[in-house]
Amino acid sequence: MKKAIVLFSGGVDSTTCLALATERFGKDNVTALSVSYGQKHTKELEAARKIAEYYGVKQIEIDLSKIFESSNCSLLKHSTAEIPHSSYADQQKDSENQPVSTYVPFRNGLFIACAASIAIANDCSYLYYGAHRDDSAGNAYPDCSEEFNTAMNTAVFEGSGKQLEIIAPFIDKSKKDIVAVGLSLNVPYKLTWSCYEGGSTPCGKCGTCIDRKKAFEANGIQEDY
Ligand SMILES: [Zn+2]
Repeated sequence: MKKAIVLFSGGVDSTTCLALATERFGKDNVTALSVSYGQKHTKELEAARKIAEYYGVKQIEIDLSKIFESSNCSLLKHSTAEIPHSSYADQQKDSENQPVSTYVPFRNGLFIACAASIAIANDCSYLYYGAHRDDSAGNAYPDCSEEFNTAMNTAVFEGSGKQLEIIAPFIDKSKKDIVAVGLSLNVPYKLTWSCYEGGSTPCGKCGTCIDRKKAFEANGIQEDY
């Protein structure tokens, strides 16, 4: 059986990736890679630990926060910027397709490169990550686009001696589609954490809370916190 590594944040998208990988390769052949990058809170990482345990997969945690020391991305602990309480589309109205303030500079590029090194050392043939169409819309998160994914896949495939391939199962799908897939796989979404704020319950107002609510409601589900 081949092996896979999953970039795993503990949110809806990456947890659904983990479910797909575990179903395909079996839990013993899947590694979840979770990254600290200097977030304002540790809710996602705590969620990731619980979910990795739920699926019985090996989890690796690495700390890359030093790399983002000079970024003022609003998700970062040292940032002076507030996390916007509006949808991505509203945030981008006046910004001419610039990334949103919660875009962590080249995060997926960095994480994929790290995951590729770990994957090759662990004989993995596939690297999963949960980028989707809603995040790349309007260039909100340019490192979630199809163009980015294609380029990274070429780099990873060639740079690994054609041993490793990227699988981005949702690259042309919406978050609503991801939730539909996850529900069919009984993903324990209650264990996931999406909110950019670190409160005891999700704020319901940040970009990712708004997106999550919409995606679940489109699947006929009202989440209660
Ligand atoms: Zn929120």
